[in-house]
Amino acid sequence: MGSYTVERVPEQRFGRLYLSTVGLLLAALVAVSIPAFSFIDVSVDGQRAKLPAGSTAGDVASLRLMGSSAGDLVDREGAVIARGRGEPPRLVRVGHQAAGNAATLVMRELDADTELMQGDQLRSVRGADVRETEVPQRVAIPVDVQYTGKGPLMALEHPGSPGVREQVVGAASGKVFEDAVLEEPTPMVVRRYFPNGERKVVALTFDDGPWPGHTEAILDVLKAEGVQATFFMIGRQVYRYPDVVARIRDEGHTLGNHTEDHVILGRATPEEVRRQVTEGQRAIQSVAGVKPGWFRPPGGSMSARVGHEVARFEMQVAMWSVDPQDWRKPPVATMIQRVLTNVKPGAVVLLHDGGGDRTNTVAAVGPIVRELKKRGYTFVTLDELHE
Ligand SMILES: [Zn+2]
Repeated sequence: MGSYTVERVPEQRFGRLYLSTVGLLLAALVAVSIPAFSFIDVSVDGQRAKLPAGSTAGDVASLRLMGSSAGDLVDREGAVIARGRGEPPRLVRVGHQAAGNAATLVMRELDADTELMQGDQLRSVRGADVRETEVPQRVAIPVDVQYTGKGPLMALEHPGSPGVREQVVGAASGKVFEDAVLEEPTPMVVRRYFPNGERKVVALTFDDGPWPGHTEAILDVLKAEGVQATFFMIGRQVYRYPDVVARIRDEGHTLGNHTEDHVILGRATPEEVRRQVTEGQRAIQSVAGVKPGWFRPPGGSMSARVGHEVARFEMQVAMWSVDPQDWRKPPVATMIQRVLTNVKPGAVVLLHDGGGDRTNTVAAVGPIVRELKKRGYTFVTLDELHE
């Protein structure tokens, strides 16, 4: 066994006496005047619970002693949007009240700050459902396009105006509960037409360029034949090949806007339509210094929104009346045949100098031009066709 020493501390008699007196006094105070230091027994939904005396109904809720749940967040049709997002469960005190010889059961709902008593029989009640707030909102009804006439060129006869509908929408569910048309939209009216059908003229149009190699090759053929055409260019390409753009301009061809990135506008958002038309215009104006008067929507995808944006720049829309599907790269002879069989006075022919391998298109242009010349046609740009 090892040994150890204990150091003796001198007793402080006065101090001990003082402390024990204070301790006794405190104990007396607790015992006599603060009985709340004890506990009470209650039952909540049949379960016994020991709570500090002075506990409130709210304490029971925060201790999660209740068997009932909170209500739900619901819409006006009663469909649940979020479970448990309604009112919290409520607590009731079950008591007996003498009524003659019998005793009736009395339940009293308790506020959160109601103090509980020894022996309380408590029950919880499911919280009430809460209905979501609903907000009115006004929604624009888009403008439809109404076409009149036939032909490759389009003139905007009436811009149309959007309608207005008023809806009541659930703030949480997003459901539309009421929907009323306040104002019907009026359609945009677009007149399609053939320009001056008497003159034996043809407008060749080339889309999706400028494209390195192909565009210059086509320009060479047109120059050799003394023919002018229209080029619907993509803004992004315009910035990449400014020298080709300058040559198109200098050789007397018409420059058209075919959007910034060749986006199918019928499926695009209004913001995207605006950007595509605006940036396509900006590219040609800044690189070539000319303001395009013609617009061709990629894929021919028109909408009232496109018509509206195009009108802002005072452009006109040009579609086509002859489409040999050259972008599918059919044999050169097929391409030539398709154009020659479909050309009529005032025809607008759709061809492509950009967007892929256009070797066959390049090879077809010369024979098409020469054969049509033989048949008495002259070639014009869209500007000239229109006059
Ligand atoms: Zn195109």
